Amino acid sequence: MPDCVRGRFAPTPSGRMHPGNVLCALLAWLSARSQGGRIVLRIEDLDPLRCPRGNADLLERDLAWLGLDWDEGGSRGGAHAPYYQSECTPIYGTALEILQKQGLIYPCFCSRSQLHAASAPHLSDSQVIYDGRCRRLTADQVQQLSKTHRPALRLCVPNETISFTDSCQGNYSENLAKECGDFLVRRSDGVFAYQLAVVVDDARMGVTEVVRGRDLLSSVPQQLYLYRLLGYRPPQYRHIPLLLAPDGRRLSKRDRDLDLGSLRQSLSNARPLIGALAHLCGLLPQPEPVTPQELLPQFHWELVRRESICVPEKWYTTPPTEWL
Ligand code: GLU
Repeated sequence: MPDCVRGRFAPTPSGRMHPGNVLCALLAWLSARSQGGRIVLRIEDLDPLRCPRGNADLLERDLAWLGLDWDEGGSRGGAHAPYYQSECTPIYGTALEILQKQGLIYPCFCSRSQLHAASAPHLSDSQVIYDGRCRRLTADQVQQLSKTHRPALRLCVPNETISFTDSCQGNYSENLAKECGDFLVRRSDGVFAYQLAVVVDDARMGVTEVVRGRDLLSSVPQQLYLYRLLGYRPPQYRHIPLLLAPDGRRLSKRDRDLDLGSLRQSLSNARPLIGALAHLCGLLPQPEPVTPQELLPQFHWELVRRESICVPEKWYTTPPTEWL
């Protein structure tokens, strides 16, 4: 018998949801529900300073308002608790030990500015390809440096190209050593890195399908490498188009006018927003007010656009009641 489909929402509650997060949650929900599957809500509050618990509570209320329900996770709990990453440090610690036993983890004492000095100037933090300099430290050097600095921990990657097929974006491959470099699994302040946490959590929560924004497509080779090292089975990936502002900028939590806090002030229910998003991503030929439930019978991934989507200018200039 095929495994039951288990989808998930994995929001980072660093602020209120924006329409890109809503589209992601909507498509994850439609995909799992249209296959008779279950939905897990995992709160990715790895960095508790950026993600106070109040934000996660608000996020749950926003999901409920949108008509997107879930079977386990968040404050609801369930068989795979904890569902808050801030409570999973010992679990990530166990995974780290498995990697350490394979001799693949080393301490890194480089500061952010050193990393940037060694990288091309236009690269952001997450794109810096680490040159592996701390991998070459001797045991004595590590001991000396540890007296004054708490190191981050990095995972050695092989000179290997990892390829996979994304169900929305098609084939993707990346050479781990050349295009990614040894990556962080734990920051110097002890907070575990997203790449490790997401793999451990998706695996232990039995997630079979990951629907998320296309900005995370390039993380998959690192995650597949971790799946292999930890002996887990990877999920199916579907990376959905990003929503862009009319000027081509990526829509983010900075677009406060479009976050659910302000949208909910002008909308009595979520149907106009769901309908506008469903139309933008290809699920509805015309924008019209709908609930997620009403989209379910005709939902099919073939309908969903694959390329980035610019939101109309009027989303910034008129209230959402007038978007349809
Ligand atoms: N927590 C991430 C976000 O809110 C998503 C991570 C994932 O889906 O793997 O953008």
